[in-house]
Amino acid sequence: MNCIFCDIINKKAVAEILFENESIISFLDIRPVNYGHTLVIPKTHYENFLVLPGKELCELIKVTKDLSGAIVNSLNPEGFNIVTNNGTAAGQSVFHFHFHIIPRFKYDDFRFRPKLKEYNNGSMREFADKIRAAVAI
Ligand code: AMP
Ligand code: ZN
Repeated sequence: MNCIFCDIINKKAVAEILFENESIISFLDIRPVNYGHTLVIPKTHYENFLVLPGKELCELIKVTKDLSGAIVNSLNPEGFNIVTNNGTAAGQSVFHFHFHIIPRFKYDDFRFRPKLKEYNNGSMREFADKIRAAVAI
């Protein structure tokens, strides 16, 4: 399997590593939205959010929170986004699950301006019914 993030984990590819423990590694994104844009990934190769086991997700999100604090304290952004892209249509380009921590500034270049839809009569309920029927928590 060809995975650049596994290569970074196995030190076959270089990265600017910020944090590493037994199960998690974090490094700077090579093409940052803003400087300090960070990735946090499990060392085990999971393709996306849906197949990441809950225990590992919990560890990963805790580390993501701590690293977000470190980024805020060291770089003083005005805000930050935690983002995870899942699937090509959603912008995922590396198929090894990762959280992005993106430092944000009020007048930076990162814009997410969707053209918002409206639900037609009754269709909001239909969508909710479909999802509710699939909820199995
Ligand atoms: P995504 O598009 O959500 O899958 O995010 C993948 C991210 O990985 C992109 O923002 C890339 O810039 C970043 N990336 C790809 N290769 C490397 C690398 N060798 N070192 C650091 N970041 C990388
Ligand atoms: Zn991988």
